[in-house]
Amino acid sequence: MLIGGLLKFSLIDYPGKVAAVVFTQGCNYRCPFCHNPELVLPELFESSLAPQDVFSFLEKRRGQLQGVVVTGGEPTLHAGLGSFLERVKSMGFLIKLDTNGSSPEVLRGLLERGLLDFVAMDVKSSPQYYCKAIGVMSDIARPLASIELLKRSGVEHQFRTTALKPILGVEDAREIVQMLGSGERCLFRRGTLEGKILDYGFFADKPEYSEEEWSEIVSLYKEAQ
Ligand code: SF4
Repeated sequence: MLIGGLLKFSLIDYPGKVAAVVFTQGCNYRCPFCHNPELVLPELFESSLAPQDVFSFLEKRRGQLQGVVVTGGEPTLHAGLGSFLERVKSMGFLIKLDTNGSSPEVLRGLLERGLLDFVAMDVKSSPQYYCKAIGVMSDIARPLASIELLKRSGVEHQFRTTALKPILGVEDAREIVQMLGSGERCLFRRGTLEGKILDYGFFADKPEYSEEEWSEIVSLYKEAQ
């Protein structure tokens, strides 16, 4: 596990829980809107934290924190993820995984081992614009397989999409909702170009949703049951 950072206290990263957040280094996607280039581009990586340092911190927080969020980068790329989560779970913490869904085999393994209590998966766009949204050519059957796994898992989960006009039109948002199917919702979060992002050039002409477009996208979440 390459761990790039540890947030010791968060009220917003694990719904309804007080949690610590572990940030892994490295990602197989290059989403132009990504706000964590220092966790994605190897040349920007800072020195890693040893897993033992995280365990020592968590030992001291037993009874104070309820959960641990593992996010990235993309955590499922790390061979040591399963054993890391096993150790965290054995300490009594709930575990939330944030993933881009590109490793359905890893996700299946973690679910089967009962290591996950909550999974948040990014659904980057409709199939048509998926590769544009992730900035690389990639087999989108993989995130689609992860969606199906989560739907059948019985584990609490959330699908979410960063909505920015060049990679997600109203029709794409509709397609995502249809793709997820009944009983599932997608949280569309309006993306921002403020602060550091991976590829400013991609958004050079700063296209924005009209009020009407954005309210249509928001209503898709409200309408879905
Ligand atoms: S936003 Fe995209 S590039 Fe950034 S960490 Fe997530 S999947 Fe990787």
